[in-house]
Amino acid sequence: MANQAEALIHIEDDRDDTRQGGSGWRILVVDDDEQVHLATRLALEDMDFRGRPLTLDSCYSAWEAFDYLSNTPDIAVVLLDVVMEDEHAGLDLVRRIREDLRNDQVRIVLRTGQPGYAPELDVIRQYDINDYKAKTELTVTRLASSIITALRSYEQIVALDRHRRGLEQVIKASADLFSERSLNEFSAGVLIQLAAQMGTEPEGLLCAQGTVDGPVIVAAAGRFADHIRKPLATLGNVEIEAALLEAFSRRQGFKSRDGDILYLQSGSAHPAAVYMSTPIPVDEQKRDLLRLFTINVALGFETATLFEHLRSVAFTDPLTGLPNRAGFISALDRDARDHAVPGRGLVVILLDLDQFHFINSRLGFQVADAVLRAVGHRLATTFPDAVAVSRFGGDRFALALPVPTDGGLSLPSLERQLEMAFEAGFDVAGRHASLSATSGCTISAGDSGDQLVQQASLALKDAKLRARGRLVAFNPELERRNNAGLALLAEFRAALRNRELVLHYQPKLDLLTGRPVGVEALVRWQSPRHGLLMPAQFLDLAEASGLILPMGLMVLEMAIRQRRLWRTEGLDIPVAVNVCALQVQQADFLHGIDGVLAAQDATADGLEMEITESVFVGDDQRAFDHIQGLRDRGFGVALDDFGTGYSSLSYLNRLPATTVKVDRRFIQGMNQDSKSDMLVRAIVQVAAVIDAKVVAEGVETEEQATRLRALGVPVAQGFLYSHALPADALATWWLKQDAPAARG
Ligand code: C2E
Ligand code: CA
Ligand code: CA
Repeated sequence: MANQAEALIHIEDDRDDTRQGGSGWRILVVDDDEQVHLATRLALEDMDFRGRPLTLDSCYSAWEAFDYLSNTPDIAVVLLDVVMEDEHAGLDLVRRIREDLRNDQVRIVLRTGQPGYAPELDVIRQYDINDYKAKTELTVTRLASSIITALRSYEQIVALDRHRRGLEQVIKASADLFSERSLNEFSAGVLIQLAAQMGTEPEGLLCAQGTVDGPVIVAAAGRFADHIRKPLATLGNVEIEAALLEAFSRRQGFKSRDGDILYLQSGSAHPAAVYMSTPIPVDEQKRDLLRLFTINVALGFETATLFEHLRSVAFTDPLTGLPNRAGFISALDRDARDHAVPGRGLVVILLDLDQFHFINSRLGFQVADAVLRAVGHRLATTFPDAVAVSRFGGDRFALALPVPTDGGLSLPSLERQLEMAFEAGFDVAGRHASLSATSGCTISAGDSGDQLVQQASLALKDAKLRARGRLVAFNPELERRNNAGLALLAEFRAALRNRELVLHYQPKLDLLTGRPVGVEALVRWQSPRHGLLMPAQFLDLAEASGLILPMGLMVLEMAIRQRRLWRTEGLDIPVAVNVCALQVQQADFLHGIDGVLAAQDATADGLEMEITESVFVGDDQRAFDHIQGLRDRGFGVALDDFGTGYSSLSYLNRLPATTVKVDRRFIQGMNQDSKSDMLVRAIVQVAAVIDAKVVAEGVETEEQATRLRALGVPVAQGFLYSHALPADALATWWLKQDAPAARG
């Protein structure tokens, strides 16, 4: 530390040591005898100590002296008569000086005419009395040497005191500085504290830090303030620039023509140098303290630089080098601080690339990454005035644009600009990617960066629901709906804990025999506040929050329990449960299912999983593996809502599915639309090839049932037969349907 300290800071020491002369050492003579005052004055009149003269003040009683001392704090020595008004007057005054005035600095020399009045030794110690003399002993030389000793001691006490106060200040200043975590704030703090240490204004102070690109101004005050964050070379003051550069190359500070340069270097941090237009005061102690302070500052610079680095990591998207979400929000807040002009607002736009997973699956991750970089670059060049261009992760970007002051901003023109940004497509690594984006935007009205991003993302969510590929603006209604959703989400979280979810069961029937062949378990939320809620009312929330994952396992567990209960009633009812895409995409999907089976001591026998075909978009190999894993465990696998997805028939032969559930849109379309008829027929044929059962869902009329029978569909499910029923009701229904009398 000591070595380092030496390398840290060099303040030139060879200056004139002009002592603060002027006022002399003040000596207070307290005596009720005028003769003593005269004699003392004669004895000390021409004396000086360390080049400063002695000035004498006179008081004639203890109370007068107390009053005088209360108002005159810089008295160095009191020459005090012990016996005045009464025989205790002198010592009483001493006590009051130390205890009431709390003046520990002033030196006290006692004098008495009568030797018998000498104070006890412990009194001398307790009240820090310097000397005790009989008046007869005080010859001119003796008096002088007694005063000199007292003054020397006074000087040391004052110096120590100042040093202690200075140290306290340095420690406090350093502590204040260390709480500043950004380099800029730290540097600004240094200037303020430096100025405080020197007792001046921070005007005319400037701090530059060396970087690989040359020195950059990290802090500045007063007339230099506009140059913060700019290269030193742009300062436009050749002399200061040269002086700072010299400090960097000499690795030490020096006194320049009109100011001072401090050089700060510690550890691995980039060195910094401070220019001060006010020269450092030459006082020995001040310089010691300043040296100590700058050592702390240099260490602080290292910490602040480190924080700055961590910050930049935390605020930057590594793929594109653009600010990430946190960086974007802080840029918005900074802009609001720096441009607090009324009427100046920002448009904040959030963009989501449409169908980007196709780019990923078709062109591979590396090309997809390059496309993302190209999109960021395109946005930056299309909107050169942007306050910030950011990538939030995935295929989501953000843009903050200043609202033109002429008010010339319209949603359609902004939408057109965004469209044009994507129009040309992106040529990357010899491949061409054409892309569009769906966007949401909002205009700031004194909102925080966080709020703006939140508003824009609600607008984006709305756009994704109803206006793909377009730009939608935020409105407060979106927020209201979102808040309602958040409240419901909190309730749903509790519902999972409190087991408020129940399963209802909808039967599937053999179209030829009319006998039930199994049930589909459909989840319901029995909410104490809202009554029985249907999946449409809470599944989006569950999915968006990820709570659908624990919910999925809970549903499976409930289905297994119910199947077991029915068995004890003599009913063997196959149960199908719905599994959402998010579940299947989890790496630990199978692990979770094994956990439930083990906990219930159950096998997959009689259980089927219904999975929508959208899971398989993008050739997600993991999804295929997971389906196979289910089959390996003995689960049936049904492709739900079949026909609505992407490539439908083309990959059917690759999927180890046991059942295909024809979406109810086709069943209901069969009445008027022969296309649906053809599709159902095709599905039946393909299913036969892969040896899968076909189930028609949403069968509502006898006509539909008849048509399905004619098309060769073996199993049907729908309101024609039964709605989903609570477990008890289902058992009753089942027994009735399955009874021999009901057959035929
Ligand atoms: P889904 O898997 O397609 O389930 C069939 C839905 O169609 C059920 O609605 C059912 O009540 C309804 N339905 C049955 N027959 C007819 C009919 O003849 N006509 C019409 N118009 N509709 C009929 P529900 O229960 O509201 O479920 C809606 C969706 O919620 C389900 O669609 C399924 O995707 C999801 N879901 C339900 N339970 C669960 C679950 O436990 N886990 C997961 N992940 N999703 C579930
Ligand atoms: Ca289903
Ligand atoms: Ca379905």
